[in-house]
Amino acid sequence: MVLKRRVLENIEDTEDFYSAIKRENLTKSLSEERPYTYWTIELYDQKNGIRGGGGLGILAADTRRVAEAMNVPLTLITPFYPKEQHQIFENGALKDSSRPVDYKDFDFEFIDTVNIKCNNQLTELSVIEKEFNSTRILCITEPNFGELYSGDSCGDHRLYQEVALGFGGYQALKLVGLKPAIIQLNEVATFFAALARLDELAANGMDFYEAVVYTRKHTLYTNHTLVQAAEASFSFDQFERYVFPNLKSRAVKKWLKDKFENGRIRLSSVTIEIAELKSGVSKLHARVADYRDLAGEKVKFKAVTNGIDLPYWVSADVLKTLQSKNILDKFYLPTENYAENVETLSSEEIRALKSKGRAFMNDVLKTRPDSNGALHEFKDSDLVFDFKRRFVDYKRPWLPFSDPEKLKLILEKYNAFYILTGRVHSGDERMMSRLNEVLNLINSDAFLKSRVFYYPDYDEELARALSVGSNVSINVPVVGLEACGTSWEKDIGNLCLLISTHDGGVADGPRDAYLNVSGASEAEEIKNLYLKMEEAASAWANDFDLEFLIKKQLSNFLPVISGSRMLRDYLDFLF
Ligand SMILES: *Cc1c(COP(=O)(O)O)cnc(C)c1O
Repeated sequence: MVLKRRVLENIEDTEDFYSAIKRENLTKSLSEERPYTYWTIELYDQKNGIRGGGGLGILAADTRRVAEAMNVPLTLITPFYPKEQHQIFENGALKDSSRPVDYKDFDFEFIDTVNIKCNNQLTELSVIEKEFNSTRILCITEPNFGELYSGDSCGDHRLYQEVALGFGGYQALKLVGLKPAIIQLNEVATFFAALARLDELAANGMDFYEAVVYTRKHTLYTNHTLVQAAEASFSFDQFERYVFPNLKSRAVKKWLKDKFENGRIRLSSVTIEIAELKSGVSKLHARVADYRDLAGEKVKFKAVTNGIDLPYWVSADVLKTLQSKNILDKFYLPTENYAENVETLSSEEIRALKSKGRAFMNDVLKTRPDSNGALHEFKDSDLVFDFKRRFVDYKRPWLPFSDPEKLKLILEKYNAFYILTGRVHSGDERMMSRLNEVLNLINSDAFLKSRVFYYPDYDEELARALSVGSNVSINVPVVGLEACGTSWEKDIGNLCLLISTHDGGVADGPRDAYLNVSGASEAEEIKNLYLKMEEAASAWANDFDLEFLIKKQLSNFLPVISGSRMLRDYLDFLF
């Protein structure tokens, strides 16, 4: 690699940083023809016809957008799923539904087809692409590709999708004339991309061990999962049908066959072998992720905390204010004096920005009925709490409903509303029934029904609208289980007060940087949560407190949430 660490360390100004990337000729390693390649089984980019499931896909979309803004050559390789999932509310119950999607409706260009071998037959994949300045989205797809995360995570179809992305995507890259300078694997479902590269090098005559070293040096594995045992594994038989037939090098085949233990292979174990660089998605996550390599050694992950593409998620009015006060620079990175400059924000400015944000939120909610089919509009004087994130056990969406009487008192006292939105993973019966319990509770109480609304089919649009327009957001994962989380970052950027447990990326900052929920037991956490809800509500009624808390959030978290900072960290780690 050409750009040396030393050079990066000497650069303070961000503009210098990026011109140094050019000057030092990172372009010798990164160029239009040799881009940074980013592999992901999930992309959450509805504008381009690809709807994801959660944070993994959001991160991928943000990474590409940030790269585009910074003129970094990056190619994102992902499937285009011909069907997308929605969750609608019908006859009093949540229901999964899927809709067909056609890439032609999203300006993708058809390039050609490539083939992979699966189950003793050739499968033809279409290669389609869409360019965005220095970046592009390159997809493989076919009519029976299915939906994101459909079926069992250890099942044949999932393996097929992953193999298609890896081997098919690698051929697609060559088809459009690109060679990967870097392979970033966004979770282990993308392992086959690195394997395809290893196979190509070895099959073209490179000494096998050299090919391994070369592939390892250029591969970064980004882990989002805390527990290795939770990761999918596949059987030898499945590999015989889907993987081995796509390998040309006998040495690679042998190498891979040796990685089976008791007839099964865990993608995380081989991904660790094939990637020299490994990262976790927050400081805490990188520290606690408990992974072992095949020799039994604990794997070291470098922390690169997820950031968000600020101009995508944060209202333009807020960003304009932060830039005019020289808090953020033109790359949306905090300036050298950002913490001092944050002090110049006033409560009037915060309220004025939030009032514009409220209007934006109302505009979006005009088209989004709640689970009872009702449309709502919120006044500037209404205090709005929100909980918006995937409904999985560890995120505990039900927590604020643990003591309904207490919740009612708070909502009444502060003239407050509570907006709840989030998708239940399809097939998660337990969470579906917990959500239904909460909805029944709300519907059985006239006051709650008038103040608490559940919006189905959580997506980017709702996420953005709520961050921009609500006052207080609630994020209460069980401590130790959130890898990073990004919805809270959208809230910090949009000047919401954040109530959170000290977990994921939130734990990159100090505990007193936000309204922290803690407790030795869940019962204590619940008590603490209601206290923090009251504290947040009264802060919105008091200029001094509001200013104090918002400034503290910004000065502690702006560097964390900046997607440009994240990309800079990745480049720094890679080169
Ligand atoms: C931001 C976002 C996410 C990620 O949220 P987490 O906090 O990481 O769970 C998931 N889904 C949508 C639609 C989002 O906008």
